[in-house]
Amino acid sequence: MGIDAIVIGSGPNGLTAAVELARAGLQVEVYEAASSIGGGTRTQALTLPGFAHDVCSAVHPTGILSPYMSRLPLDQHGLEWVASGVSAAHPLLDGTAAVLAGSVEDTAATLGKDGAAYTRLMAPFVRYGPQLLEQFLGPFRFPKPSLMLPMARFGLLGIPSAQRIAGLFYKDELAKGLFAGCAAHSILPLSWFGTGAVGLIFQLTAHLAAWPVARGGSHAITKALTSYLKSLGGVIHTDSRVHDLHELPEHRAVVFDTSARNMLEICGEALPARYRSRVSRFRYGPGVFKVDWALDGPIPWTAPGCDTASTVHVGGTLSDIARSEHAMYHGSVAEHPFLLVCQQSVLDKSRAPAGKHTGYAYCHVPAGYGHDLTERIEAQIERFAPGFRDRILARAVMTPTMLEARNANYIGGSITGGVMDLRQLFTRPVARWDPYSTPNQRIFLCSASTPPGGGVHGMCGFHAARSVLGKVFGKRDTA
Ligand SMILES: Cc1cc2nc3c(=O)[nH]c(=O)nc-3n(C[C@H](O)[C@H](O)[C@H](O)COP(=O)(O)OP(=O)(O)OC[C@H]3O[C@@H](n4cnc5c(N)ncnc54)[C@H](O)[C@@H]3O)c2cc1C
Repeated sequence: MGIDAIVIGSGPNGLTAAVELARAGLQVEVYEAASSIGGGTRTQALTLPGFAHDVCSAVHPTGILSPYMSRLPLDQHGLEWVASGVSAAHPLLDGTAAVLAGSVEDTAATLGKDGAAYTRLMAPFVRYGPQLLEQFLGPFRFPKPSLMLPMARFGLLGIPSAQRIAGLFYKDELAKGLFAGCAAHSILPLSWFGTGAVGLIFQLTAHLAAWPVARGGSHAITKALTSYLKSLGGVIHTDSRVHDLHELPEHRAVVFDTSARNMLEICGEALPARYRSRVSRFRYGPGVFKVDWALDGPIPWTAPGCDTASTVHVGGTLSDIARSEHAMYHGSVAEHPFLLVCQQSVLDKSRAPAGKHTGYAYCHVPAGYGHDLTERIEAQIERFAPGFRDRILARAVMTPTMLEARNANYIGGSITGGVMDLRQLFTRPVARWDPYSTPNQRIFLCSASTPPGGGVHGMCGFHAARSVLGKVFGKRDTA
């Protein structure tokens, strides 16, 4: 009967699916197009020897809190999370900063007279944090009765736009800016319905576990998954791009860690025309433009609290960030773009030679954006950290087109597997009760183009594997 299950793609979701299938006793083989495993978690010396840069993912709140990955013995396979007490900092041009710390109280203390409002907004969610997160990190399911009230409150405060929620709760720019920076992870205009939910979720994660990086680089996450998979008997083939289903050895199920579009190309008429037509309407959305730096020292932030943060949201006030995110969604890039800056080497000394540091920043841009934004990005950091440019030893630039060339899943440079607005959050890539399955009973999708979408959490892979186990192998219990 051939191999039990083939997984196409070795990103965090592909490997998590493979692990869950192997844990259930199946024979699993993974086919990866690139010469190394890892998808969006690769780490390379992009600038100078001795500097380890995360090519894509850098900071992993949903990794450390993943309801599935946190149950796996990945620490025994080399994964070590490293965090400071500060998940994110949000500096303003006046030299002050909001600090997203471990506790609601410590965060509130940095928000001046909005501190009480922050506590009022966040404390009730923190009480149900792990259960809420499990609800969000999966396909749409009705909440358990005990979660009805917190979910109703979340819906009430999450469905409006980030701009509306910030305006309702806060008076000053610090708290508004902190919320806007977290909500901007949605890669949507902040005036859109549902962006409030993204702000709430990112703030909530920081109060459940400090946002960590992986020691040695994000690659450590998928290296650990690979090592565990191999210990379970799984096999991985690199340099093995799959173009057509007929290239694969005989198998009972195939699971795609590819974009939904790529799955259609590979499967052709093995998937019915009506399903193909529905999937082809799935939207991928904006891309990112990224710069990595080898630095002669840490980024010299003016505002206190930024120096130890794993992420610094560089964009200023709520209205500045809203302007930037509106521009990128409508075809241009703001003069002062909103940046996500990560400081891995501040947390993990192994990333750079002694006394040196790595820097990492990207901004959201229209899909396939072709202009060089290096100067604009460096100028934006310089406004909040004068002297930054003097510390640059070398840089590496990644345009949306370069990202897609490295990894076919990043269509037009889109990093979340498809737009994560209210219309596509649970209906990824189409509306189905089990979105991981397809009308072909042997074909499944497990990439970020399924719920819960982008991010390193492995939950798309886990849910897809459960679907395969139930539908193809008649195994419904958790392995
Ligand atoms: C610049 C950037 C920054 C990011 N920052 C963060 C962050 O800080 N934190 C976070 O949690 N997430 C972040 N992400 C998002 C995260 O990396 C992705 O959401 C995640 O990697 C998706 O996992 P996946 O398994 O679905 O797909 P991927 O990780 O994209 O893996 C897919 C794999 O499939 C392979 N593949 C594709 N087509 C084929 C084929 N035909 N045959 C064989 N193999 C194929 C690819 O080569 C790739 O290895 C970032 C992404 C980018 C690009």
